[in-house]
Amino acid sequence: MKILVVNAGSSSLKYQLFDMGQGAVLAKGNCERIGIDGRITHKRPGKEDFSAAPAFPDHRAAIGYVLGLLTAPAHGVIESVEEIAAVGHRFAHGGEKLRESAVLGDEELEYLESIVGLNPLHGPPAISGFKACRAEMPNVKHVGVFDTSYYATLPDYAYIYPLPYELYEEKKIRRYGFHGTSHRYVAGKAQELLGDPNAKIVTCHLGNGSSITATVNGKAVDTSMGFTPQDGVPMGTRSGALDPTVVTYLMKTCKLSAEETEKVLNEKSGLLGISGVSSDCRDVEEAANAGNKRAELAMRILVHNVKKLIGAYYAEMNGIDALVFTAGIGENDRALRADVCRDLSALGVEIDEEVNATCPRGEICDLSKKGARAKTFVIPTNEEYMIALDTLSLALGK
Ligand code: AMP
Repeated sequence: MKILVVNAGSSSLKYQLFDMGQGAVLAKGNCERIGIDGRITHKRPGKEDFSAAPAFPDHRAAIGYVLGLLTAPAHGVIESVEEIAAVGHRFAHGGEKLRESAVLGDEELEYLESIVGLNPLHGPPAISGFKACRAEMPNVKHVGVFDTSYYATLPDYAYIYPLPYELYEEKKIRRYGFHGTSHRYVAGKAQELLGDPNAKIVTCHLGNGSSITATVNGKAVDTSMGFTPQDGVPMGTRSGALDPTVVTYLMKTCKLSAEETEKVLNEKSGLLGISGVSSDCRDVEEAANAGNKRAELAMRILVHNVKKLIGAYYAEMNGIDALVFTAGIGENDRALRADVCRDLSALGVEIDEEVNATCPRGEICDLSKKGARAKTFVIPTNEEYMIALDTLSLALGK
């Protein structure tokens, strides 16, 4: 059974074709510069990568090209498009109605179009990507998987902001949470590793965008991202949580427009803003190791904020059975993991520094010190596989 997973951005379309029987990726790639000129990188395990620069005037041209490539004798992995049993689409936002993954029909599409205001950056391209795929593959089911839906289980006191209640009721201003597919995947793996479906788990998705989520009994109970993916810990270029008056101060006293203020908060803050070096954690750490004080400060601020949230979620759940690191920084940055876990023994978190320093990349790793009350894991995330699993189950009942 073959499932195609699609993740469409404004000028990109990433894809992975899974053989679900083997749980294997047959091919994957990325179409870039859609609407500009066009570029594609296509990979198959054990084979040479293929790159080209075809014209991609829109998402439909890109997906059409991808389907051609997947079935081409030279670069393909299937004989015919008919072999693709269903398509899974990643959506950042499912609003308040799409609270779980769903087969996408006209009603769902209409709802997704009605909430693009909540998600102006990622909503429109994901919808275009879906429409393009549906036009190219009208005979299979298309399933939407929403980053927000893992947070449908948040209690109201965790998702309602202390603002006038009408702003929630009328404007839908609330905590939605993001990266849910990643947190769901790694929390599920941690549950399996612990052999405890009721476990209290804190998952740290630390990448270019970062979020932290608390899960109990397989259900998310709190998360650091909020109304938008701007909230929570500092990220590559995003500030994370701030006193909201900073925003109005920037606008009123520093005379920035709303767009300029958003640009400061989204594109010029976080690791880049503090360090002045880069948004990429590797560059910031390298600069810090070479004695750059602001780069060192940026890393300290990140660690400080991650620790604070772990403590908060410990308090909310009355304990932690497992702490999980995932995504680019969480999976690869041993120094940061050691810094986050330092002095967390009061919460039961203690890691074996040597295991942490030698844990192989790309693999699940148990960092816990012998006898620690809580387990600490590195679990590589796999959002695409999670999307493929949901698609298999919803579109084909498997
Ligand atoms: P992601 O958004 O999950 O792709 O993660 C991107 C982030 O992971 C960037 O900040 C990278 O610098 C960081 N990253 C990737 N590899 C490493 C590494 N070996 N050490 C530290 N950070 C890394």
